[in-house]
Amino acid sequence: MARRPLVARSVPALRTIVSRYRAKRETVALVPTMGALHDGHLSLVRAARKRARRVIVSIFVNPAQFAPTEDFKTYPRSFDADLAMLAAHKVDLVWAPSVAVMYPADFSTKIAPGGPALVGLEDKFRPHFFGGVATVVSKLFLQTAPDFAIFGEKDYQQLKVVTRMARDLDLPLRVIGVPTVREKDGLAMSSRNAYLSPSERKIAPLLYRVLKDTAAAIRAGASLSATVAQGRGAIETAGFTLDYLEARHAETLLPAQFAKDGPLRLLVAAKIGKTRLIDNIRV
Ligand code: AMP
Repeated sequence: MARRPLVARSVPALRTIVSRYRAKRETVALVPTMGALHDGHLSLVRAARKRARRVIVSIFVNPAQFAPTEDFKTYPRSFDADLAMLAAHKVDLVWAPSVAVMYPADFSTKIAPGGPALVGLEDKFRPHFFGGVATVVSKLFLQTAPDFAIFGEKDYQQLKVVTRMARDLDLPLRVIGVPTVREKDGLAMSSRNAYLSPSERKIAPLLYRVLKDTAAAIRAGASLSATVAQGRGAIETAGFTLDYLEARHAETLLPAQFAKDGPLRLLVAAKIGKTRLIDNIRV
């Protein structure tokens, strides 16, 4: 059996281990996760392995990025299975703080990201989200002091928000984006896919098909607004409640009217039953 990673549950314990790495001048890559790990997360771990001598995976379901109406309490948690997967991928250290360690009772500081965090995509439907993400990610960065931080393109707006935050705050690390890992039928892997009923699971891959068809039509020169409108229709007809399907500038995430405003990224968020899915694709 592969050797289990060390598990740190307090900041001093974490710092002791990280300072041992640093004393040996070993590079460190951090993969932040909320657990319930799948092959998408493991692809991030592999990217981390390629870049750094030591790989730290954080597992923390961050209450600050959930609204009271959202699924913080029911979010899937599978720590033992996660640890076994990380052992098989030779992860060195798992950083698994409790909520009380991350946010002591008198915790009162927040990071308020702007730029790509305020463009009317996820931020419009989950206004609490990027403040919660930026605050916890900056804490994770300061706690683990990595050379590299690995994020998935699956959460594309989040990747851009964290990249901008690292740049704006002169954080001494590089944020690396990793392509989305998909199921065979195209559905982007996500811990929340576990919520889908069998019939919802059958419909779910339509989101990726619409993204692909819409991107292909835009590349072939079709009108951006007409093509995106057609994509929105297809998603709603399939039974989703659509939050957004938008073509945006791939870096700023600002609205784009024409293909020549690119490079473009198509981003979608939609609910099927009670489950909210997000995905995106390069145009
Ligand atoms: P989460 O545990 O959902 O917060 O995700 C932790 C990290 O894994 C984030 O950087 C996500 O973007 C990334 N991630 C989640 N799903 C995938 C996927 N299907 N492919 C690649 N990265 C992913």
